[in-house]
Amino acid sequence: MLRVKNLESGYDSIKVIRKASIHVNHGEIVTIIGANGAGKTTLLKTITGLITPQRGEIHFDGKDITRLATEKIAFLGCSLVPEGRQVFAPMTVRENLILGGYLQVKRGEGGGEEDMEKIFDLFPRLRERESQLAGTLSGGEQQMLAIGRALMGRPKLIMMDEPSMGLAPLIVKDIFSIVCKLRDSGITVLLVEQNAKAALAIADRGYVLETGRVILEESAQELLQNKDVQRAYLGREKRKSAGVCRT
Ligand code: ATP
Repeated sequence: MLRVKNLESGYDSIKVIRKASIHVNHGEIVTIIGANGAGKTTLLKTITGLITPQRGEIHFDGKDITRLATEKIAFLGCSLVPEGRQVFAPMTVRENLILGGYLQVKRGEGGGEEDMEKIFDLFPRLRERESQLAGTLSGGEQQMLAIGRALMGRPKLIMMDEPSMGLAPLIVKDIFSIVCKLRDSGITVLLVEQNAKAALAIADRGYVLETGRVILEESAQELLQNKDVQRAYLGREKRKSAGVCRT
């Protein structure tokens, strides 16, 4: 579904991503974990065309998207749920979702009313707050809206940048169980997280990014048991959040 090869990117003369290679197979949840400033957001922004890569290749669903414009990448079915949600604050929940459905309209697939119902089934809280301004939603509700808005574009791959950031543990559990449901419905997921424990509990595979380099690539199980990963990212605790997918 996604293949990133020897990618180098950054900001002007600053190199952030250094020869990073990752891949995501159809139907997987793959997570990228790493400390603050490791380059996780920069990597996602480069995949979505928000940053032009300096070197390397990016292929999505069999197509070379290395230097494609962001709207074309989104049109192909690769969506980003950005860090900090970035909902359209002065617009209502419904209006935010309608905007997400723009890709459907552009593909001639309809206006998205049916999909909106599915999203309201997935996030009943959004249905209750359909007419509320997005800027007045709680952090968790805004995260649900940001995911819902991305889903309105019917993505094949959904990339999420720190969906758990700033949220209470119970809301994080809800969001992560939704991520599992998305995978079960056939959407491939690339999940960037600082909450490594929660991310590895639901992921199939994971990568560890350190100063822009992929230093480890293993199954989520292996990463959870890796002593270095435990020390650096899991606070040596056991896998408490396991089982979220099975609720
Ligand atoms: P976090 O988990 O804190 O969000 P991250 O792993 O997502 O971190 P990035 O946000 O990709 O890391 O940042 C990687 C590096 O790139 C950091 O050193 C950061 O200061 C730098 N950086 C990010 N955005 C810019 C920018 N617009 N201009 C210059 N440098 C930037």
